[in-house]
Amino acid sequence: MTLHGLKAIAAALAAGETTSVALVEAVLEKIERLDGKLNSFVSLTRDVALRAARRADAAISRGETGSLLGIPMAHKDIFCTEGVKTSAGSRMLDSFTAPYDAGVVERLKHAGAVMVGKTNMDEFAMGSSSETSFYGPVGNPWDLGRVPGGSSGGSAAAVAARLVPYATGTDTGGSIRQPAALTGITGIKPTYGRVSRYGMIAFASSLDQGGVLAPSAEDAALVLEAMAGFDPRDSTSVDEPVPEYSALVDESLRGRRIGVPKEFIASGVDPAVSAALATALEQLAGLGCEVEETSLPHLGLSVPTYYVVAPAEASANLARYDGVRFGYRAENPANLTDLYERSRREGFGAEVKRRILIGTFVLSHGYYDAYYLRAQRVRQRIAADFRHAFERYDFLVGPTTPSAAFRLGEKTADPVSMYLNDIFTIGVNLAGLPACSVPMGFDGNLPVGLQMIGKAFDEAGILALAHQYQQVTDWHRRVPPRWE
Ligand code: GLN
Repeated sequence: MTLHGLKAIAAALAAGETTSVALVEAVLEKIERLDGKLNSFVSLTRDVALRAARRADAAISRGETGSLLGIPMAHKDIFCTEGVKTSAGSRMLDSFTAPYDAGVVERLKHAGAVMVGKTNMDEFAMGSSSETSFYGPVGNPWDLGRVPGGSSGGSAAAVAARLVPYATGTDTGGSIRQPAALTGITGIKPTYGRVSRYGMIAFASSLDQGGVLAPSAEDAALVLEAMAGFDPRDSTSVDEPVPEYSALVDESLRGRRIGVPKEFIASGVDPAVSAALATALEQLAGLGCEVEETSLPHLGLSVPTYYVVAPAEASANLARYDGVRFGYRAENPANLTDLYERSRREGFGAEVKRRILIGTFVLSHGYYDAYYLRAQRVRQRIAADFRHAFERYDFLVGPTTPSAAFRLGEKTADPVSMYLNDIFTIGVNLAGLPACSVPMGFDGNLPVGLQMIGKAFDEAGILALAHQYQQVTDWHRRVPPRWE
């Protein structure tokens, strides 16, 4: 059966037209048949899935309902899943089986979600193309010679090819929105603190945030409302009630003010992206919004700021992988130092090592003030730009990326050009704000994305904007050919 929206699937389950076990079997069959080309999964969890599906079917036959109950899904392999390999795309954790569930996994399980597997990703979520994974690159279902974006590229490719109805992701500098844009799906990164980071393998703790990749804003709303909420085990989790996002997506947008930062439309944006944006802005105006140009003067500093702050935090977070406590351990070490050195040398890939080196450097005595402290100050400026803009506007809108998906291998030799792909997404993480990406057209046969940024904790607002945009456009319904 084709998977068209969570509401339709839940209705089919409730009406007895299908069962969770049947859905899981169909999803696994499709993944086994097609994922050889995409490489979007790191592991499939057939037994775990069938057990959960049987439980869901029993609940449904007792008359229980739930918008995610019995519906298959996939977790990015950065979320700890009890008894299931959790690799973060790294050789370092290739043999790691998590002893507990992440907060997000727990919540979705509680809602009856049925995990069928774990998705491929850039190693420790460091990357914009899903090419740094120990398990090999992920293909873009629109063009297998192109990247699906990253780091949540496995989740994005799997959802775009309709292998699963939705998947989780994480976004430290764009890793949900950018792959959503490059694969033609909807992705939302919530406000920092909205979704628990407990059991989510840490990359840069002050920026990391879990979220959703799904075909539509309506589906993303249903998943986010199950996934979000306070978790005392995450000290940065915020104790704010979670609205029922899916019930709010039709709230009127009349008179809402949209700012389009001119930094988002400046040079370097491909003509096809600019053209799609121009049309999208007219459509948003058609929904009753007032659209005008604005400015985020420090946004241009967000990439260099991020590439000090994120590696600094990563170098500290990744110190725990020492070959002793868990994860990869080098064979036949000569002594303790050799054990540390070789375990890290052999267990980490090149991009992760680059980040650890940069991070250790900017935190070192003598460079701390010049780099790390200065970056923290600039981060405050960037956050202040967003604060000022949100005094005037309800939403900020622009392209998610400057161009459509690039070729596999095109940017791997040039880290800086890879880093620049996140130029429009990174500022949002530095400011801790919620943002989503929705499909807004094509460049040739490749999708491009529209980014919608909201005030802190206004996920409901951006989901309503995204949903109503999707009522007047059909880009999100386009499915790449050949993935039936
Ligand atoms: N591409 C960015 C990086 O490599 C962001 C990754 C992410 O959001 N996890 O750091």
